[in-house]
Amino acid sequence: MPPVIDIHIHIQPLHMFKPHALALMKRGRSDFADLERYAAEPKAFLRFLDEAGVERAGLINYVSPDVIGFTPDVNDWIARYCAAAPGRLIAFGSVHPAYVTDAGAEVDRLAKIGIRGLKVHPSHQLYSPNAYRDGLGPLGEIYKRAQANGLPVMIHTGTSIFPGARNVYAQPILADDVSVDFPDLVVILAHGGRPLWMNEAFFLVRRHKNMYMDVSGIPPQKLLECFPRLEDIADKVLFGTDWPGPGVPGVRGNIEKFLALPISEAARRKILYNNAARLFPVR
Ligand SMILES: [Zn+2]
Repeated sequence: MPPVIDIHIHIQPLHMFKPHALALMKRGRSDFADLERYAAEPKAFLRFLDEAGVERAGLINYVSPDVIGFTPDVNDWIARYCAAAPGRLIAFGSVHPAYVTDAGAEVDRLAKIGIRGLKVHPSHQLYSPNAYRDGLGPLGEIYKRAQANGLPVMIHTGTSIFPGARNVYAQPILADDVSVDFPDLVVILAHGGRPLWMNEAFFLVRRHKNMYMDVSGIPPQKLLECFPRLEDIADKVLFGTDWPGPGVPGVRGNIEKFLALPISEAARRKILYNNAARLFPVR
């Protein structure tokens, strides 16, 4: 197997989940005890990555007290967790403009404690990714400081079925403003707008020099149906699974299905590894 970076995995503080969000996570899965063990022990999770054939993983966390239950403590939690293997675990944290007094200073602090990327989850954080143009000043400060610190920002795009999620904020086109106003900021559109807005994601990734997308949450065998011109943007696409999100099958199975796609070897390597390695060099 070629080397793989899965840029979108959720290792999360399970104790923070609100009851019905947790119920959705548990629904129909028999491996919840494993998830609890992975969340508690980085070593156990690293063994899981070894078995799945994954060299490095982006571990996505974000502040969402209202919808999911995550408080600003998620940042320190995931930074501590990834410190167990900084060469393999890439910590993503977040700053919610409504839950911090100085959003810009918090971005600087996260960069210092080892957070490598910021997640913006508009449908779970309940604001539009371009709301800084509409009065949400601290959000603009977050992008500005992320750009200054060289922290990529991953913006969730595509539908969510968590109770209370607001999908009106989930359209990729809302992130167009971000790359217009912060052209040096690396923006990653998570899930490529899946399943309603993939054309928007494709357009934006081609339009903006520093805009990328990940393909997590999209069944790999459907990827070329969703993005028939995937190879045109092979320099801007990152492999990810969104595991263990609701409805996402195993990591290894996803890699195998991706490897079976009829795309060039060069495109496959870029998407599976090189693009993410360039954005998140080991340090
Ligand atoms: Zn996700």
